[in-house]
Amino acid sequence: MKKIDDLRKELHEHNHNYYMLDMPTISDYDFDIKLKKLIELENKYPEYFDANSPSQRVGGSITKIFDTVVHQFPMYSLNNSYSKKDLNDWQERILKKIPGKEKVEYLCELKFDGVSINLTYEKGSLVSAVTRGDGVEGDNVTENVKTINTIPLKLKGDFPEKFQIRGEIFIEKDDFDKMNSLRIKNGIEPYMNPRNTASGSLKLQDSKEVANRPLTCYLFQIVSENQLFDTQHMSLQKASEWGFNVSNTYRLCKNLDEVADYIKYWDNKKDDLKYEIDGIVVKVNDLDYQNELGFTSKFPRWSIAYKFKTDRVTTKLIGINYQVGRTGAVTPVANLKPVLLGGTFVKRASLHNEDQILKLDLHEGDYVSVEKGGEIIPKIVNVLKEKREIGSSPVKFSKTCPCNLKKNLVKIKDEANHYCLSFDECPYQIKGRIQHFISRKAMDISGLGGETIDLLYKNGLVSNYADLYNLKKKDLIPLERMAEKSAENILNALNLSKQIEFERVLFALGIRFVGQTVAKKIVKAFENIDNLMSADYESLMEVEEIGEKISKSILEFFSSIENKKIINRLQKIGLKFEVSQSDNISKTILSGYSFVISGKFKNLSRNEIATLIESNGGKTTSSVTSKTNYLLGGEDIGPSKLTRANELNVKIISIEEFLEMINI
Ligand code: AMP
Repeated sequence: MKKIDDLRKELHEHNHNYYMLDMPTISDYDFDIKLKKLIELENKYPEYFDANSPSQRVGGSITKIFDTVVHQFPMYSLNNSYSKKDLNDWQERILKKIPGKEKVEYLCELKFDGVSINLTYEKGSLVSAVTRGDGVEGDNVTENVKTINTIPLKLKGDFPEKFQIRGEIFIEKDDFDKMNSLRIKNGIEPYMNPRNTASGSLKLQDSKEVANRPLTCYLFQIVSENQLFDTQHMSLQKASEWGFNVSNTYRLCKNLDEVADYIKYWDNKKDDLKYEIDGIVVKVNDLDYQNELGFTSKFPRWSIAYKFKTDRVTTKLIGINYQVGRTGAVTPVANLKPVLLGGTFVKRASLHNEDQILKLDLHEGDYVSVEKGGEIIPKIVNVLKEKREIGSSPVKFSKTCPCNLKKNLVKIKDEANHYCLSFDECPYQIKGRIQHFISRKAMDISGLGGETIDLLYKNGLVSNYADLYNLKKKDLIPLERMAEKSAENILNALNLSKQIEFERVLFALGIRFVGQTVAKKIVKAFENIDNLMSADYESLMEVEEIGEKISKSILEFFSSIENKKIINRLQKIGLKFEVSQSDNISKTILSGYSFVISGKFKNLSRNEIATLIESNGGKTTSSVTSKTNYLLGGEDIGPSKLTRANELNVKIISIEEFLEMINI
């Protein structure tokens, strides 16, 4: 209905003018009248319902359980830097990865301190809003996010058909103080800090209540299947044109000196901002280079956070605990008298290892300065010797493992940590290995957590990860807080884990230094567990990115009879220990060749061409690098790709030449 449509368009526009441009063109009163009119019409003609109508801003929906959604593109963390030297080191790493480049430009942005959100837009309408969660999957909080006025429900201008955009939802300092004053006035405990309050607000069940919270949002990263722009700078300008709230604090810097100026400026000015920031984010501006640099398993290589020096507080050391990891490494952890730091209470701080304790010259009962160095766990930066009690003794690093076996700890050459070598008996290591096995990135046995593993181990039901597959419902039900349904879910997840591909199973085994990336490389090189178990040192060393440390660790792992027995059992249970035939594409016609596709093609879509390349054993990447073998060009081939291919002597081929290559 035209009237409804027009009113919606008009109200979206007013909303944008008011909340983003801070330039309202009508009075609040007139706005309310128009909104009321729209709601009346929508009630009268429910067939014209639109989930993104301005009327939806006021909330009203109830979400009992937020669905978990797997991110199409993972939401990574950022690596941290604390000094100009860290930034220089980062630049060096970057330049090594982009051959032929001596310098790159950076786009600097503020690091907004709130909750990250991933928004998906299709045909210009907001279709979903998902929290970061663990980076792989998050919660669907769309209904709540729709109530945030600075998030557009409809876009303007020449937006692409489908894309995602990431940003940070937060509460401004003044609004937060107002909320708290009201709470104090009403005799309610005030909120601890704006970040936690913003994050809690997104998970409220009643979106009407969310609408009442002063949440706002800055957007800063467009993500899509195809590269839409040449630079991060252009993407921010475009995002702003499409109606997104983009902070105008970003700056394009030609070199690291300019980046340092930006950092210095905001380090001085950050307290004048209306909202909290916890640093600066530096991004490689050129998106082709970003693609070339890619990601590690945790961070983008093309971006880094610069963390401002945070506040320090003083507190008292109460005692020291020792934690034993799954590899037997022992970490001392300081227990502290709880103290407020950066909005949260700090009770513990990692001391890393014995050397760190000696370096600090830590005595029992000392007063210590604690700082948050960017990591979640704060660190002790120094000891206040003037406050030390006379006669207090230095902290002595434990000689034995904290487990009941009390085995002596051993310092291994060239390693900072002490180790408990009781690999097969130490309960902490046994439980640690099982926990790693079931973790999300490994076998993903949802429903089984640390506490359940503890109980299963205590009751003698599991003493290694293969034992998990012997569990029966009758074993689980008697455990504390275990309902029938949860027991069924666990058994179901164990059963499903038999479908998990070999590279994840290999990662789940918990071989020291074999993380996800290394596991992938090993699987590619050896294809099945028998080949891997019979591999010698030299053949392991031949695998890309595998060095001495990893090779030795793999050999050691497979030399254990106990480990071999467990693997044998897991094989019998039916876990995957080889690449399946469909994954095994290495011996086909394009094996070892890397393609970049650019431009438009008459009879085939780019996706179809990519599938053809991959099903013939080749690889596609989004940007031309020295490793690219062919640039497959169609009509309107991307000019930057063409230049780069010419610079690097990459062969440019037509679709006809390509089809000939694969005999079509
Ligand atoms: P961290 O959680 O410290 O590893 O930092 C990564 C998070 O910083 C991202 O998930 C974002 O939510 C947040 N962030 C805030 N501002 C920015 C920005 N300008 N660019 C990228 N990430 C940002």
